[in-house]
Amino acid sequence: MSYGQAFPLSAAATAASAPKAAAYAPDLAVRLICPDCRDPNPNIREEFGSGDLVCGDCGLVLGDRIVDTRSEWRTFANDEGDDPSRVGAANNPLLDGMEQLDTVISFRDGGSGMARELQRAAAKSSAGKSERNLLSAFREISNMCDSISLPKTISDIAKQLYKRADEEKVLRGKSIDAIVACCIFIACRQAKVPRTFKEICQLTRVPKKTIGQCYKALEQAFNLNSGPPPANPTGAPTPSQASGGTSAEDLLARYCNHLNLHPAVQSVCTHVVLAARQHSIAQGRSPVSIASGAIYFCSQLLGYPKSAKEVGGVAGVSDSTVKLVYRLMYAEKDKLVKEEWLQTGKASWSRLPAVEATAAK
Ligand SMILES: [Zn+2]
Repeated sequence: MSYGQAFPLSAAATAASAPKAAAYAPDLAVRLICPDCRDPNPNIREEFGSGDLVCGDCGLVLGDRIVDTRSEWRTFANDEGDDPSRVGAANNPLLDGMEQLDTVISFRDGGSGMARELQRAAAKSSAGKSERNLLSAFREISNMCDSISLPKTISDIAKQLYKRADEEKVLRGKSIDAIVACCIFIACRQAKVPRTFKEICQLTRVPKKTIGQCYKALEQAFNLNSGPPPANPTGAPTPSQASGGTSAEDLLARYCNHLNLHPAVQSVCTHVVLAARQHSIAQGRSPVSIASGAIYFCSQLLGYPKSAKEVGGVAGVSDSTVKLVYRLMYAEKDKLVKEEWLQTGKASWSRLPAVEATAAK
């Protein structure tokens, strides 16, 4: 297998770094050659008509009663691409090593009671409890991701992570709901479309504290930040990449979309957020607060005003938080806004609500 395992254990990463010596072993490949000809490149044919294995050179019969592995029906589609001789769903790597076929036993047994006995036996022998739990967790992840329109790639990452956590027994004793919530949270973050803890809490109805506990356990167990570094022209990691966390600029696009803001507002917001970080404005505030404050600031500045309540509603913070960050940004507004925006008339100080007024409210 040339692919590395998904979500490797962080402890395993150090142990596996020692190079392995090449192992020499006898060639155990079994080759069938004709005992008469002793040709190393035998010309052995399967005669399905008679069920014999025959040497094509001398005619010696090497075996009989061979199994015909060809399809048991004829196709007339030879000139239309592949012969669909074997069909079925593609193998699901997430269900690797698990029974993917179900046995269904009929209820019709002529009143002998045999069907119920058989069903009981089948239920006992079929998938164990852990496999059934895994399947129900996968279904839960799919449903959750569908309900907030997350793509299949994210639900697949979440399922993969859930499976790894299940295999390594990292989250023993935690409820399935909590693990599912945490896996979706991490999957979103890894796919660079982060959702906040609050949004995941609303989605899964799992308390934030529980998700946080699961997250810490998973972060310790697996190398959650070991993904390939994304292309970054400046070479300097953004805070979100450095810490594996969510940064304010990652949230801007989604919030601006939900607010139906003009695309120009979003690019100005990004600049404002980056400038605010550079000048340590609103430092220590959560990324969600900074993003919502910046959106409020920029929407007013560019003349697409949104109220603090609207912005706070989309971001899931109170309007007083939005106004608080706005006040911090307003105090240092010269550092945040480019001179050319003011000169071209794109931005205007007069549009900004005065801080005294907002503070008095
Ligand atoms: Zn031969």
